[in-house]
Amino acid sequence: MQVVITGTPGTGKSSVARELEGWNVIDLKTFIEEQDIGSVNGGEIEVRVEKLVDRLEEEFRDSEENLVIEGHLSHHYEADYCIVLRCEPDTLRERLSGRNYDRQKADENVEAESLDIILQEAIQQQENIIEIDTTGREAKEVAEEVIERIENEETGYGEIDWSEFL
Ligand code: ADP
Ligand code: MN
Repeated sequence: MQVVITGTPGTGKSSVARELEGWNVIDLKTFIEEQDIGSVNGGEIEVRVEKLVDRLEEEFRDSEENLVIEGHLSHHYEADYCIVLRCEPDTLRERLSGRNYDRQKADENVEAESLDIILQEAIQQQENIIEIDTTGREAKEVAEEVIERIENEETGYGEIDWSEFL
């Protein structure tokens, strides 16, 4: 089984992935550095998406293990399930300010989240999407929902609407 966890920076991808037991978790920042296919400065990753996807295909397409790939570009790799984590924009801003993002970068991410940018991209490339709102929840609880919804094949998205924050 191959799963990707995507979402705007700060939605909780790494925290949720950390709570998944028995899965081989690949964090894309580390993968990009190890493969030497781009640069990571601060929270910002610079990499060509095509190159990243090619390298992921080479590395993982034939893998039989339970794999989770997490990162805000992970939805470009076609997986059995694509988890899209969401966070209410005001809460996202608080989470991002906690990790000393500058104002402009925080604004960009809050706007991207309000516009469903990552969800819209994911819809273009993934068959099975599971969208989860992490606002006011613990990472552990979200991780349990991820597992439960995969087991029950309970996909779905589109219930979340942050447009009032625009
Ligand atoms: P990402 O990897 O998506 O950029 P992180 O996992 O680094 O996000 O989480 C960003 C912040 O959000 C962390 O400080 C984390 O503790 C916090 N957080 C709060 N609630 C949750 C939740 N329900 N799920 C995941 N992270 C959460
Ligand atoms: Mn992360």
